[in-house]
Amino acid sequence: MRRILEHKRLILFLATAGFMLYGFCGMFDRLRDVFLDPKEDMSFGWLVPVFSAYALWTVRRELKESVGKASFLGLLACLPFAAVALLGTRGLQVRLEQVGFVGLCVTVPWAFFGWSTARLCVFPAIFLLFTVPMSSFLDVVTIHLRLLASGTAFAVLKGFGVQVVQQGTAIIAQGAHSFNIDVAEPCSGLRSLVALMALTAAYAWFTQPTWFRRGLLFACAIPLAVLGNVVRILTICLCAAWASADFAMGFYHDYSGYVIFIVAIACMVACGEIVSRLCPASRGEKPPARGKKARGADDAKRFEGRAFEGLKCVRELDASATADGAGARPAGRAGPLLDAAPPAAEGCRMWLAAAATLVLAPVFVFQAMTPVTTIMDPPEFELPARMPGCQTDGIRYCHNEQCLRTVMVSRLSEGRNVCPVCGGDLHEVTLGEKTILPADTRIVKRVYRTSYGIQFLVSAVVSGKYKHSIHRPELCMPAQGFIMREPRDIVAGGRPFRAIHLQGANSFPSVLAYTFFNQAGVRTASHTHRIFLDTWDRSVHNRIDRWVMVTVNASAPFDSGGFDLDHESDRLLFEGFLANLSEHLP
Ligand SMILES: [Zn+2]
Repeated sequence: MRRILEHKRLILFLATAGFMLYGFCGMFDRLRDVFLDPKEDMSFGWLVPVFSAYALWTVRRELKESVGKASFLGLLACLPFAAVALLGTRGLQVRLEQVGFVGLCVTVPWAFFGWSTARLCVFPAIFLLFTVPMSSFLDVVTIHLRLLASGTAFAVLKGFGVQVVQQGTAIIAQGAHSFNIDVAEPCSGLRSLVALMALTAAYAWFTQPTWFRRGLLFACAIPLAVLGNVVRILTICLCAAWASADFAMGFYHDYSGYVIFIVAIACMVACGEIVSRLCPASRGEKPPARGKKARGADDAKRFEGRAFEGLKCVRELDASATADGAGARPAGRAGPLLDAAPPAAEGCRMWLAAAATLVLAPVFVFQAMTPVTTIMDPPEFELPARMPGCQTDGIRYCHNEQCLRTVMVSRLSEGRNVCPVCGGDLHEVTLGEKTILPADTRIVKRVYRTSYGIQFLVSAVVSGKYKHSIHRPELCMPAQGFIMREPRDIVAGGRPFRAIHLQGANSFPSVLAYTFFNQAGVRTASHTHRIFLDTWDRSVHNRIDRWVMVTVNASAPFDSGGFDLDHESDRLLFEGFLANLSEHLP
């Protein structure tokens, strides 16, 4: 009877798991695209679920032994994760879906088999988080990684007597071996950081017996990966300074990463040894669950544990049997937990397992049936061709990595779209914007110049279907070597703007102002407000709003005092310009 019930419960669990996989079909599709997208740099993502499955396979014996009663608490815990996943599926928010999926990988086994089983699923499930696309999400971190790498390279190159200047994340040398190396987003070391963290997590789980030691080894991965990237950028710069920029940015740039990654892995293994020496397993600790060396002792301890559990079961059973008034079970049959569980309680919990299937399966089917997200039409607008008191001009960018000049359209001879300095092709967006932003992002730019030589560079970025079309200036301006100070809010022409003073190393002080609007007519200057509205529209209305970010950079290229909002004349001029611009925007 009990065995049949057990089989029925397993079938219910497998059916629920099947419905769950069906519900997450859309997420698997999206993740496949992420893994195949060279911009996301996540080719290692394929290995992550394989490892998780393997980690689960190594504990199959413990899994079998751990099976307990179905848990009502586990079923309750499933619900928030199912909700998060459902909201993520609406509006193509793959990270939310992933958080939901990982949570369900623990809570569904918990609902069906109890916490002891779910506990064994925690590590394989959390490991799946290494498939979360990070590149567009962690720019807060990558900007510091990039500045650290370029700053260290700059300091060491100076020490070697190489004539270089640092401009944000770029290192530029003039002279016999001139080069221009920008520690761009892909070079931030984030990929090697995430890959090394995943490897270390796996290595620590197999070799370290306690969670404390695993955590210690895992923490070592971060400085190791960061250091590895700094060394890599530094050697690229040294190659460029002493050999040639072409060799450094070509062959050496492409292959040095692998060598340094292997060295980092060797260091990680060494760290593992040090952790083992520094924190020897004390008597109270659990022996390594999967270590080969300690297998004999391990098995003996596990046997003791199980025998104890069995005895405990018998005692509980005796107590319950006495309470029920039924005959006591013959003593001495200290079998595994399953055998000892009272059949009456088992049947009751079977009902709970059936309830879990009945609750969760429709949720997953509903998730799979989520209608295709509506992508709204972008708001129609053009940057004004004329502005009172201003001359206007277009702007083009050279994409040759050793040149990267900015060229005004008025200075190009008729119909020629090539860089006057290097002869390379000119584009309407910078090389950085083209490589980082999703392909469906639209960018328009225009320059307005007053007769006093004040220049306003206006750019409008129309976001596509992904959230990372719009970058926060607070993050990307420091990457270009600017210090930001004295942010303030301005309202001009009935539109809110956020204005910030910029101080660059090689330019006069200038001012940057930005504002957002969308196709529904919402106007805001707050990133937080925009992100909240965007997430709300995606999750609740299942539609993707097309946000436009307009930035205005005001500078005075011929005035060493720069452009400063603390000067009354500059402030009035700026507010007048923003009000005029605002009239032309929806
Ligand atoms: Zn050029």
